[in-house]
Amino acid sequence: EAITRTERAKTEEVSPEDYRGVWVFAEQRDGQVMNITLELLGEGKRLAETLGVELAAVLMGDQVESKVPELFAYGADIVHLVEDTELKNYRTESYTAVLAELIKKYRPEIMLIGATNIGRDLAPRLAGRIGTGLTADCTELDIDLEQRLLQQTRPAFGGNLMATILCAQNRPQMATVRPGVMKKLIPDSCRTGKIIRTPYQKDQVNVRTRILEVVKEAGRVVNLEEAQIIVSGGRGVGSQEGFAVLEELAQKLGGVVAASRGAVDAGWVPASYQVGQTGKTVHPKLYIACGISGAIQHVAGMQNSGLIVAINKNPNAPIFKVADYGIVGDLHQVVPLLIEALAEE
Ligand code: FAD
Repeated sequence: EAITRTERAKTEEVSPEDYRGVWVFAEQRDGQVMNITLELLGEGKRLAETLGVELAAVLMGDQVESKVPELFAYGADIVHLVEDTELKNYRTESYTAVLAELIKKYRPEIMLIGATNIGRDLAPRLAGRIGTGLTADCTELDIDLEQRLLQQTRPAFGGNLMATILCAQNRPQMATVRPGVMKKLIPDSCRTGKIIRTPYQKDQVNVRTRILEVVKEAGRVVNLEEAQIIVSGGRGVGSQEGFAVLEELAQKLGGVVAASRGAVDAGWVPASYQVGQTGKTVHPKLYIACGISGAIQHVAGMQNSGLIVAINKNPNAPIFKVADYGIVGDLHQVVPLLIEALAEE
C-alpha cells in the first residue's frame, strides 16, 4: 500500500520548487500545548527565517482555538486549525488523514514533528501516506541554502556517530525532533498571525479504532526535560529500594529522580525515567549520576547538563570523563553523607 502511494505521489508531477514554508505539528494533550511544540516553533522560526519563508503550526483537537495565541507568541506566523470532537485525542488514522490533506493542499517544504510517543507513531505513517522521506529522532537541524535542503542530524550506529541526512528528491522534508534539544523563543504575547480553519471531513476518513478510556500513568509524573536538578540512578543502585535514598536527595535539592537504561531494564523504575539515546534528553543545571557507568547512549541524553557530578565506585568508569566533579565511592555511603550535609546547612 505504501509503495502504491509513493508511486501515486510521484506521478502528480509536483516539483520540489512548488513547496514553500516550514510547518510544525502542534502536539497537544488534554488541550494543553506540549513543550516540544514550543521548542519546534523556536527551531522552525530559525529555519524559516534562513529560507525567507513563513512558519506555520498545525493544531488539531476539540475546542483548542484558545491555544492559538500561544502558538503565535512562540513564533508561528500561520496556524492551521482543525477542530472536531473526534480529534480530541490522538488517533493515527484521523491525524494522518488531516495532515496529509493539508500538506497536499498547501505544500510545505519542511515538516517538523516531535519525537514523542505520538510523533513517533504519526510521522512514519504520514511519510508513507504522502510518499516522502523521514529522518527520525533528529538532534540538530540546519539549512544548506545553496541546495535549499534541510540538513537533518541524528545519532547513528547506537550513538557512536552523528549522521547528517538530506532528503533531496521528495517534499516535504520531514523530521522528528527529540524533546529537550531545541530552544524555545521568549514568548511575545503581542504577536499575532493568520488562522486558517479547515473542517474535519470525518466521512472521508476510515477510522478503525475507538478510544474507550484514557488511563493516566499512576504516581508522580516526572517532567525530566524541564527539571533543573536531576539525581539519576543506574544499575549500581542495586535495587528498587535503593532508589529511596536518591529520591530523598532529589527532594532535598528540589529536583527529580531519573535513571539509566540499566536501572529501567532491571525494573526498578518506570521507562519514563530513562535518560539517554532511547530515553529523554535533559539539560538541567545539575545532574548527579549515581552508579551509572557512562555508556555513550546514556551520555547522549545528559551531556548538555550545566554541572555533572558522578558517584561511582570504579575510578575508571567512563562517566568521569564527562563529569565536572567525580566522587569515587559506594553511592550507598556517599549519597546519605550528601543528604546529611544538606540537612546541616
Ligand atoms: P552499568 O553499565 O552496569 O554500570 C553500573 C555502574 O555502577 C558501574 O560503573 C559500576 O562501577 C557502578 N556501581 C556499581 N555499584 C556501585 C555502588 N554501590 N556505588 C557506586 N557505583 C556503583 N542506556 C541509557 O542509560 N539510556 C539510553 O537511552 C540507552 N539507549 C540505548 C540504545 C541502544 C541502541 C543501545 C545499544 C544501548 C542503550 N543504552 C542506553 C544502554 C547502554 O549502552 C548501557 O548498557 C546502560 O546505560 C548501562 O546502564 P548503567 O550505567 O546503569 O549500568
